[in-house]
Amino acid sequence: ALVVRNRMRSSGNWAPVVAVVKELEERCATPVGKLRQVADAMAVEMHAGLASEGGSKLKMLISYVDNLPTGDETGLFYALDLGGTNFRVLRVQLGGKEGRVAKQEFEEVSIPPHLMVGGSDELFDFIASALAKFVASEGEDFHLPVGRQRELGFTFSFPVRQISIASGTLIKWTKGFNIDGTVGEDVVAELTRAIERQGLDMRVSALVNDTIGTLAGGRYYDNDVVAAVILGTGTNAAYVERAHAIPKWHGLLPKSGEMVINMEWGNFRSSHLPTTDYDQALDNESLNPGEQIFEKLISGMYLGEILRRVLLRLAKEASIFGDSVPPKLEVPFILRTPVMSAMHHDTSPDLKVVGTKLNEVVGIPDTSLKTRKVVIQICDIIAKRGARLAAAGIVGILKKIGRDTAVKDGSKAVIAMDAGKRWIRHRCSSPCSFSLSVSRACTVLKDVNLMLRKLDGSHLAEGKKKREFIYRGC
Ligand code: BGC
Ligand code: MG
Repeated sequence: ALVVRNRMRSSGNWAPVVAVVKELEERCATPVGKLRQVADAMAVEMHAGLASEGGSKLKMLISYVDNLPTGDETGLFYALDLGGTNFRVLRVQLGGKEGRVAKQEFEEVSIPPHLMVGGSDELFDFIASALAKFVASEGEDFHLPVGRQRELGFTFSFPVRQISIASGTLIKWTKGFNIDGTVGEDVVAELTRAIERQGLDMRVSALVNDTIGTLAGGRYYDNDVVAAVILGTGTNAAYVERAHAIPKWHGLLPKSGEMVINMEWGNFRSSHLPTTDYDQALDNESLNPGEQIFEKLISGMYLGEILRRVLLRLAKEASIFGDSVPPKLEVPFILRTPVMSAMHHDTSPDLKVVGTKLNEVVGIPDTSLKTRKVVIQICDIIAKRGARLAAAGIVGILKKIGRDTAVKDGSKAVIAMDAGKRWIRHRCSSPCSFSLSVSRACTVLKDVNLMLRKLDGSHLAEGKKKREFIYRGC
């Protein structure tokens, strides 16, 4: 019966559908003037967050990283990456400028969902046990100097207040994580205890956010890298700041005169952000209401969920899928961003991918071409808003560090970027990262457009050098 009704829909009354889509489009609009306001607000909040602890929604966390890789590094390093969706362990043998990454190996597993909302020890035991197994498989082509203990870089993709390069307390969980008893604890101490429980001889030598890892990984190859952005399950940015420009920093002035700042821009909010009732409802019903508002407009954890909410409204108020509401469409997070992305980029004449996904994922059989086109239009509105806001954020950083306007020497400011590999795989052939060059000779406006072209269309280009997640956390 649903099939018949869906077919009939195409000849039915489309006015309500058109009205809902039009309203969405208007509310999500990001004209360049608005993007400028967002960029300006970002720069203002950056100043405020650097001025004093708690001075802004932007935490502007001091990373204790005051110099970045040069490419001359040598030796065996282990790294562990706990992100939003996946967990990776890896080892790399660095051979200096000549040898570069002489050898690398990694393993990746998705984090079992029950561990994201369970107890702290369970999560850290899971990590340490995977690490122990991985270390045990180290072959002879990796060389640890005799008498040296293995060292581990820990990439932990959540906001942490650091007190040194190798310690820091968790401020809050984000994304899909909500684990009792970890907030306020030193995550390195938690990990170290779990490593000891495994009987593994290894020392955590650095704790970094994934943005810091991406920045370091970018700098390893390219000296022009000034900032890093993550567009994955969550979103965030880090950049190199002059130590003098951090009033809240009371420590010794680093020799380099610089300090890397983890902005935690996912928590940015501003009256200039274009938001809708769907966003409001998503936030209210989320694990962290009122938090991570910028993230909820941009990142991979949420885009598919926004789409689901729009489709649900179209089903209820405009009967776009027939007289009854497909029950699966009522299930939060059933429509993940990779599915949305696949539909968004469907180029087949009859929009076959859209049809198949709607059927497989949300149980809506046999949609008309007209309906599928509407779905694509909605994907486009949601994805564009996210991409353009991310671009505005980047321009905000460039403004803050004075790299948004023309300079005579014509040097470049490069942004290292890491994006969820499943989310953007179809647009980018590198494993999961790429870099964007931002010409310093551009005006602010041109910078926005340049970024937008790279961020929101099918124009994501692989950087001139391939970056792989292996470098994160090293
Ligand atoms: C976290 C950041 C992280 C970002 C990207 C956000 O939810 O708060 O620390 O860098 O996700 O992984
Ligand atoms: Mg990650």
